Amino acid sequence: SDTGIADFGLIGLAVMGQNLILNMNDHGFKVCAYNRTVSKVDHFLANEAKGTEIVGAHSVEELCRKLKRPRKIMLLVKAGAPVDDFISQLLPHLEKGDIIIDGGNSHFPDTIRRCQEIEAKGLLYVGCGVSGGEEGARYGPSLMPGGSPDAWPHLKPIFQAIAAKADGEPCCDWVGETGAGHYVKMVHNGIEYGDMQMISEAYALLHGALGLSYDEMGKIFDEWNHGELDSFLIEITRDIMLYKDTDGKPLVEKIRDTAGQKGTGKWTAISALDHGIPVTLIGEAVFSRCLSSLKDERTRASKILAGPSTSARYQGDSKKFIHAIGKALYASKIISYAQGFMLLRQAAKEKGWHLNYGGIAVMWKGGCIIRSAFLGDIKDAYRKNPDLESLLFDPFFQKAIAGAQENWREVVSQAALLGIATPAMSTALSFYDGYRTERLPANLLQAQRDYFGAHTYELLEKPGTHIHTNWTGRG
Ligand code: NAP
Repeated sequence: SDTGIADFGLIGLAVMGQNLILNMNDHGFKVCAYNRTVSKVDHFLANEAKGTEIVGAHSVEELCRKLKRPRKIMLLVKAGAPVDDFISQLLPHLEKGDIIIDGGNSHFPDTIRRCQEIEAKGLLYVGCGVSGGEEGARYGPSLMPGGSPDAWPHLKPIFQAIAAKADGEPCCDWVGETGAGHYVKMVHNGIEYGDMQMISEAYALLHGALGLSYDEMGKIFDEWNHGELDSFLIEITRDIMLYKDTDGKPLVEKIRDTAGQKGTGKWTAISALDHGIPVTLIGEAVFSRCLSSLKDERTRASKILAGPSTSARYQGDSKKFIHAIGKALYASKIISYAQGFMLLRQAAKEKGWHLNYGGIAVMWKGGCIIRSAFLGDIKDAYRKNPDLESLLFDPFFQKAIAGAQENWREVVSQAALLGIATPAMSTALSFYDGYRTERLPANLLQAQRDYFGAHTYELLEKPGTHIHTNWTGRG
């Protein structure tokens, strides 16, 4: 009999599912595969999975029969209705304590809802962020599982075995309750938007303000990749700078400058607004993509709106300015991550999640798109002080920003003078200056609100007492 032979069930044989199954098989776990279009099961077993321990099922019932208890079944299907469809197909065949895991890019409110519904039936539910694309899934993804805490001991040996490793630590740890795993994955994607935007601004400055060639820029990104900016995104940017089309010209220069997006950056920005946390850099990164897609309108505007000439160049020492751009990038990155963790902290507070911030830094340090040496410093900061109020209060980051700020200010001012848009770097600096300002002009704002709307204000000397003034003296 083939009852209870497999350690793990996986539904969804597109690229992510197939690769995760092969990865689990490499680590000695016996996986049973299933897919809505059942012919893909046989095709997978006869091709990619040939010669492995992987088995298949031709129905949801057969899949559930073939799994050891408690059953562990992961969905890697299109986010949205397909996840709910499979959950309702699975439920009649499951028993108390069985675990359903959603490894797709589900939006966290859906995961919170599903987790509550499934826990109410005595089963366990996990929403697991998976990052690293096809390559990661095959050889070591970053995995961000959250949901029913009782599921974790059953999943830990499998998930930590197949995950990427950073400094010997698996890039997978328990994130928190209900939708915490998918939430952290969403913020990861938002941070990815920010990182990409900042790097693109550095490119705009190197190219626009200094007029550097693509080979020169490739060399600079390579140097940056060997210092504090060491990261996957800087590394691929170097490769992209150096990549030549068949005619010998840089391919990147021929690419239409309109950025696409699938929505996870937008979700992060929306969540930041919902929680009232100033995640300004990711917000600007999303809006920058929106602005880029207004290509025709921008083309018309470029012909009529005044500003410095596009051929205007930075007049100072270019070597120093290149260094300054690297520092502006580094400082902006610190701000973006500080903002991202502020959002995580607030979401955790409002949703009752117990987030493990050091663990989150480790999960992001390897396997995923934002992997970087920098995340090791974030891990250290949270391991030293798990209750850190802000990354900017950590002595390492305080010092890092202090060391970068002069260059950062120079870059943002020069960009303004030269008319080169640097929304991410500029908003990061504005945030920094606002954050370190004890008295903001919000006193005026409160006066205005009270003037036109009788919204009242508090006095510095009497917080908690709400006062209204008749500003015009009229009745
Ligand atoms: P995908 O193209 O997002 O989804 C294809 C899978 O979903 C197939 O197994 C397909 O079954 C199934 N499916 C689609 N519509 C369905 C429906 N209405 N009912 C039941 N099943 C349905 O595949 P993927 O790129 O491998 O991604 C899987 C999940 O991982 C997605 O949520 C994705 O966002 C997430 N993810 C992807 C990446 C990546 O780099 N690709 C990275 C991280 C996370 P059929 O074969 O029967 O059509």
